[in-house]
Amino acid sequence: MEVNMKVKMKPILFTSEMAKKIRGFYKNQTRRTNGLEEINKDNPDSWNLIKAVTAGNLLVRFNHSMNKIEKEFSSKYSIGDYLWVKEPWRFSAIFKYEYKSSLMYKQPEDKWNPSLHMHFDASTIFLKIINIRIERLKDISVEDCLNEGVDNFIDEDGIHYFYVYPLKEKGCSRSIMGHPVGLCNSYISKGILGIKNPEKFAFQSLWQSINGFKSWYKNPWVWVYEFEKINTEHGKCFICGCTDSDCSQCIEKTGKPCDWANAANTVCTACKPNLKKK
Ligand SMILES: [Zn+2]
Ligand SMILES: [Zn+2]
Repeated sequence: MEVNMKVKMKPILFTSEMAKKIRGFYKNQTRRTNGLEEINKDNPDSWNLIKAVTAGNLLVRFNHSMNKIEKEFSSKYSIGDYLWVKEPWRFSAIFKYEYKSSLMYKQPEDKWNPSLHMHFDASTIFLKIINIRIERLKDISVEDCLNEGVDNFIDEDGIHYFYVYPLKEKGCSRSIMGHPVGLCNSYISKGILGIKNPEKFAFQSLWQSINGFKSWYKNPWVWVYEFEKINTEHGKCFICGCTDSDCSQCIEKTGKPCDWANAANTVCTACKPNLKKK
């Protein structure tokens, strides 16, 4: 593999539940509204998508149905970008860091630092963007609900169950529209309370658990980022392939041997050039 100095590595935030799904290869899509606030804030219905061009990132153009104003936006991430996942973490006495998403048994009293405050040194999950689309949130297909990593299992009778995530703001203490009491934190199957698409109901609850109850009904425009999780191994840079014993290509490119850019020893400083290592 050739050392690519132009590789872009950008951070992306996930909850511990979603980081866990990515770790297990159960999630390969994420829907994000970043950069689309302008068309989502009042009524997303009044904006028509008139053009979408992939030029690495996705460039989209909208016009307004009433006043014909046009707006252009581009996706934050581009096809081919590497993303490093920021997730709930903390320092560990044994390992340098540990992650809520990789603990087998969770203690309710455990304290974790939020995803936002994770530094690159603690990074362990890397993604590569392979496709970008734009669509309305509610237009998600049944298949994509699974690609988004909604928790599910099939029982011994072949019945498919989907997890209903608790609401972000109201918990599950009272019945509110589209979110019947008693379903939160449980698994539902087709037909329960007349639900036709349990996959979509589960995805709706997942979205609401992160973005709030109302955000689903607003039906925002969303970037759909499709990604693959990169298989990394300790002691080998996943980008250039250099190891502790062979770093000759980095020396050739940069004039000096590289160092590890993260505690997991999976990315070298030659591939993450602007990073300060302590
Ligand atoms: Zn490297
Ligand atoms: Zn190297």
